[in-house]
Amino acid sequence: MPPSADTIAAIATAQGRGGVGVVRISGSGLGSIAEAILGRLPVARHATYTDFKDETGEVIDQGIALYFPAPHSYTGEDVLELQGHGGAAVLHLLLQRCLGLGVRLAEAGEFTRRAFLNDKIDLAQAESVADLIEATTTEAARSAMRSLHGDFSAAINGLVEELTLLRMLVEAMLDFPEEDIEVVDTSHRDRLLEKIKTKLAQTLATAKQGSLLREGAHIALVGRPNVGKSSLLNRLAGEEVALVSDVPGTTRDVIRQAIQIRGVPLHIMDTAGLRESGDEVENMGMARTHQTVGRADLILMLLDAAQGCSEGDLAIIAGFPVEIPRLQVYNKADLLQGALSNDAGIYISAKSGLGIDTLREQILKQIGWHNQEGGTFIARERHLIALNQANIHLQQAEQLLDHPELFAEELRLTQQALSSITGKFSADDLLGEIFSRFCIGK
Ligand code: GDP
Ligand code: ZN
Repeated sequence: MPPSADTIAAIATAQGRGGVGVVRISGSGLGSIAEAILGRLPVARHATYTDFKDETGEVIDQGIALYFPAPHSYTGEDVLELQGHGGAAVLHLLLQRCLGLGVRLAEAGEFTRRAFLNDKIDLAQAESVADLIEATTTEAARSAMRSLHGDFSAAINGLVEELTLLRMLVEAMLDFPEEDIEVVDTSHRDRLLEKIKTKLAQTLATAKQGSLLREGAHIALVGRPNVGKSSLLNRLAGEEVALVSDVPGTTRDVIRQAIQIRGVPLHIMDTAGLRESGDEVENMGMARTHQTVGRADLILMLLDAAQGCSEGDLAIIAGFPVEIPRLQVYNKADLLQGALSNDAGIYISAKSGLGIDTLREQILKQIGWHNQEGGTFIARERHLIALNQANIHLQQAEQLLDHPELFAEELRLTQQALSSITGKFSADDLLGEIFSRFCIGK
């Protein structure tokens, strides 16, 4: 059977150089492709060391071929993996050879999308594949793996099952004539409802932590020139620089650095040129600075411990939206003679490291991070919205206990919101949006 237009291929390994590079092919007609490139279809699920040949019979590369017949493969389709040397040119030759055989280039996330469509994984798991790849801290990676393993999905599926039970119970009540209503055990209903409420609240709390691990928190570091912002940034970064830093967007005015505290990614913005002045260029910088800070989850207001909170500091603080939480941090505490001042705040020394651990703890507390027993699973904004929606419908249901039809309808809506997380009923445009953000080859 020749490959159909819907057989896809891509380089699955990262661009650049590496010891090994992988071209992955998924779909039908892999027999003829394998025959052309390898001389034969490899034995299923056995590593076969072989030549990879071009159309003239010349060897492009030598490596390992792996054949995974459907449905026991990543995508659920027939999959052929060619593991060669990890060079850009040699992998390009190998990919071109596949495309020359009637296979088409895979779109971003298309392998994982097929895995989802073939029920190998649900939508939350598919998303966690991308989150695992993009994780910038080991804690985020572990959480993504827990989601991929199905921990998040299991919590959602458990809730959906109990909601189904409750709906069956209520719908049975609906079938009873009005006068017989007392024969139905409402205490069973109430217990089940209570249990679902508790579980949903727990899942939402964990998902919030998981979302924090995925997105990180944005922290604006503000303060007068020379108060020690750069020094503090360096101190906080220390050995805890995030594994991947999000430097794009760095401007002359705002320096961004990705760091982590106990596995929570933090995007620190050091607002350099923050001072009142008549200089037009500098004022533009100030406007940008205020924009940046306006989007922060937390403002770290750095002050000089010896000088306390000055007029200039008050002016800076006044410039920022009141709704953003802030921490007042007094730096250069190492220079203080005798007792600390009475000003509320954290006393640190960016220079000596004094008070930095306390500051770290306070930052985590302010952004809402609690250390979870047994770890959290990764979650996205989309999941939080769905969980919040489910929560609202469940609360509405509780108000409607005396109206079984309306109660049942709210339960149905609760269930629907939850099911959107695992993708039981998801719209095509949502799928398109999720998978288009994947890298090619995954
Ligand atoms: P920025 O302008 O706010 O970024 O301030 P810098 O980080 O560039 O620091 C300004 C000056 O203060 C430098 O000479 C630093 O060495 C000094 N400095 C920063 N933090 C401390 C501290 O905790 N103690 C002392 N004694 N000096 C500090
Ligand atoms: Zn600085």
